[in-house]
Amino acid sequence: MSDETRSGSWPQWLPLRAALRASSPYGAPQIKDVVQLNTNENPNQLPEVVRDRIMDRISSFVHDLNRYPDRDALTLREKLAEYINAISETSFTSANIWAANGSNEILQTLFLAFGGSGRTAIGFTPSYSVHPMIANITGTSWIVGSRDSQFSIEAKGAAQGVREVKPTLVFVTTPNNPSGTPTPFADLEDLARAAGDVRALMVVDEAYAEFSDEKSAVTLICRYPHVVVVRTMSKAFAFAGVRVGYLVAHPSVVDAMLVTRLPYHLSALTQAAAEVAIESADLLQEGLDEIRLERERLSAALTLAGWKPLPSSSNFILFGGFEGKSEEIWQAFLDRGILIRDVGLEGYLRFSVGTPVENDQFLAAMHEIAS
Ligand SMILES: *Cc1c(COP(=O)(O)O)cnc(C)c1O
Repeated sequence: MSDETRSGSWPQWLPLRAALRASSPYGAPQIKDVVQLNTNENPNQLPEVVRDRIMDRISSFVHDLNRYPDRDALTLREKLAEYINAISETSFTSANIWAANGSNEILQTLFLAFGGSGRTAIGFTPSYSVHPMIANITGTSWIVGSRDSQFSIEAKGAAQGVREVKPTLVFVTTPNNPSGTPTPFADLEDLARAAGDVRALMVVDEAYAEFSDEKSAVTLICRYPHVVVVRTMSKAFAFAGVRVGYLVAHPSVVDAMLVTRLPYHLSALTQAAAEVAIESADLLQEGLDEIRLERERLSAALTLAGWKPLPSSSNFILFGGFEGKSEEIWQAFLDRGILIRDVGLEGYLRFSVGTPVENDQFLAAMHEIAS
């Protein structure tokens, strides 16, 4: 059954919650044998030495898989704290870190602890659609704050909105998805102050932080304990298939996560692979400079063709300026073997930066479509 036919036509006997009756499953099309530039993955495969290290680590304990994993993933959290401290000159410990199966699970656990019926969350759209999706699933009211025509948050107005709405959760994605635009650090601090004034948590989704030059919001936590930074290994670490996300926060936030997480949620295999990935961060992130350079090359080529890419601090580009409907242009790319993303913003489409070869294929298709 397709998503369309499923939503709204559930059988009578199924006691599905009313809030979910209009929902369809989240997800972009997964199509084989095309150039996949639609989910912002890192296009680089794992270096062989990292693959070997993962296999070695896993084979060293595979005989113990009859046992539950470390419920609190302490070793992994220590390593994540070291990683963040090294790049942001902070002094976090495992007590400041929580890890889960992708940052999406982190987001869900946050909603379970701090959202729910009678509570409100606010986000600034267009942004990551999983935030309002989980709000809906957890019965949290979702208030839509706005962005300007360049998809930036107007900080003064946004802070005022937070003070008026008095939510318990404020979501800021920076660099933002789907626009790729960052929120300047000073604006984040303004928003953090507003969130603190109404006793909200401010959740900063930094899934793409490693592609940006902006200072991380983790440096706000010591002054604003209600700031929670959500990060992932799915993008910069080229580790999307393993499913590891984490948050950096005041220890009290982490304690609340422990109350709402499922026991043994993070498998021993996941923890071991992720530990190796953190130890190998330099190797896994070797390709980031190239991705950033390719991003600028692609952006320049789009501009030359008369299209309008937004300046991106991420590993993807949102662009407009084409003639025709978004879905037609999306299809025109797919007809040429290139899968990009229709994010539901009329007049815009998004694509991820691929390998140089993939990017050339993208550009060849673009030139055909633009001419
Ligand atoms: C890709 C992405 C995530 C990552 O989700 P994972 O569950 O960690 O793979 C989180 N937030 C945003 C804004 C993203 O674009």
